[in-house]
Amino acid sequence: DLTNETYARIKETEKDIDAFITLNEEKAMDLAKAIDAKGITEENAMAGIPIGIKDNIVTKGILTTAASKILSNFEPIYDATVMEKVYGADLIPVGKLNMDEFAMGGSSETSYFKKTKNAWDQTKVPGGSSGGSAAAVAAGEIPVSLGSDTGGSIRQPAAFNGIVGLKPTYGRVSRFGLIAFASSLDQIGPFTRTVKDNALALNAISGYDPKDGTSAGVSVPDFAAGLTGDIKGMKIALPKEYMAEGIEPGVKAAIVKAVETFKALGATVEEVSLPYSKYGVEVYYIIASSEASSNLQRFDGIRYGYRSEDVQNLEDVYVNTRTEGFGDEVKRRIMLGTFSLSAGYYDAYFKKAGQVRTLIKRDFDKIFAEYDLIIGPTAPTVAFGIGENINDPITMYLNDILTIPVNLAGLPGMSIPAGFSEGLPVGLQIIGKHFDESTMYKAAYAFE
Ligand code: GLN
Repeated sequence: DLTNETYARIKETEKDIDAFITLNEEKAMDLAKAIDAKGITEENAMAGIPIGIKDNIVTKGILTTAASKILSNFEPIYDATVMEKVYGADLIPVGKLNMDEFAMGGSSETSYFKKTKNAWDQTKVPGGSSGGSAAAVAAGEIPVSLGSDTGGSIRQPAAFNGIVGLKPTYGRVSRFGLIAFASSLDQIGPFTRTVKDNALALNAISGYDPKDGTSAGVSVPDFAAGLTGDIKGMKIALPKEYMAEGIEPGVKAAIVKAVETFKALGATVEEVSLPYSKYGVEVYYIIASSEASSNLQRFDGIRYGYRSEDVQNLEDVYVNTRTEGFGDEVKRRIMLGTFSLSAGYYDAYFKKAGQVRTLIKRDFDKIFAEYDLIIGPTAPTVAFGIGENINDPITMYLNDILTIPVNLAGLPGMSIPAGFSEGLPVGLQIIGKHFDESTMYKAAYAFE
């Protein structure tokens, strides 16, 4: 019944939101019936709950496009590790969610398929790249979804839609079967409407995976266990760079209010500095584009996906397939990345970016030697208009200035709702120590 109702609600809401690329109704109904027959016990307490999946997570037998023309006909023959975990928990994947093409973007407008709308105002973007994952949860289509975050793609859309989104510590969740954008930065994480649901969802997808060479062999605590509401004595840092120029006054005001709430709850909040974070955007766009240019070499029209019809020889297959199959933003990144990795430029760009990345990471290490958490805004603005920034890549890139350093340092980061500005949701970002998502959830729960 729940699965049925979910599809009815999705179909009604999709007219306004356009969050899904694919709905796998038949498969989901079969799964629901099988779970009904099996029954719900303590072991599968989340059984039957519908979940939406970002379309860059490979799903066996279900179209997986990464919102690109080049994968518009790709039906994977295997499941991502997170999908095995989703099925293992008897959650029901109901469909695949829209995103920026190959997760490159901050508004979901670079999708080949459709433009998803913000759940609060359909003239605004839902953020990106996981815009479909955020809007579908915020609009009440589904209670939980999975997204991916390379430079902010879970946190920024969570902020823009007024929900909870968490990017786990790098290595916490397996990347096996996540279509790679920038392998040293990508992580999968959950979107939900409440902090507790988020903690439960993260438990469902976490854990060591031998199929992912960067998966961490650390134990997975019960993330919901510390949700007591008591954060007395917690030490919280507020970087002054996160409240500097360029942050909208309404966003700043909401964060100032959040700081007061944390103090009222018995935490201490002190101003600190992350001096190297100002180079985050430059460093990120060199590293992420370089890794992307390498990762996207596999889309050649030979093995799977779209192939150009307009070919005379092998060279044409590669060139025409990629020319026709990739959108402008993806091509921009491939060119930028190929340039930064080229002989003669490597030392000045890719290598240098790696060195500055280390400095950014050390900034965080220093703060976390003294504090439990870092807070600040998730994004400098609230959701902007559809079409407003799409032809201005620099403005679009700068929207990630507050989320990117977290990926560069491999830290966990989350966004939770912290009021409104101009009638649109503001996100509060909470950054934790490596593998200390529990403390983040604890603070978020007390704040909620
Ligand atoms: N908006 C950033 C970009 O375009 C981040 C994307 C992401 O986290 N996948 O690269």
